[in-house]
Amino acid sequence: MSFEDKTIRCADCGSDFMFSASEQQFFAEKGFTNEPRRCPTCRRTRRQRQSNRTDVQRDWQA
Ligand SMILES: [Zn+2]
Repeated sequence: MSFEDKTIRCADCGSDFMFSASEQQFFAEKGFTNEPRRCPTCRRTRRQRQSNRTDVQRDWQA
């Protein structure tokens, strides 16, 4: 399976961000079939905001 860099528009802030081939490969190896909906900055913000929720922690540690 080969991957190519692609640009995705963030669902939160509306800015374009790069979903690189290496990130796509990482996602695929983790078993994620959906593309990220948010840019890395928004993802980090949401993760910090939700860090007290044990279900989210479990998801990220899986
Ligand atoms: Zn964003």
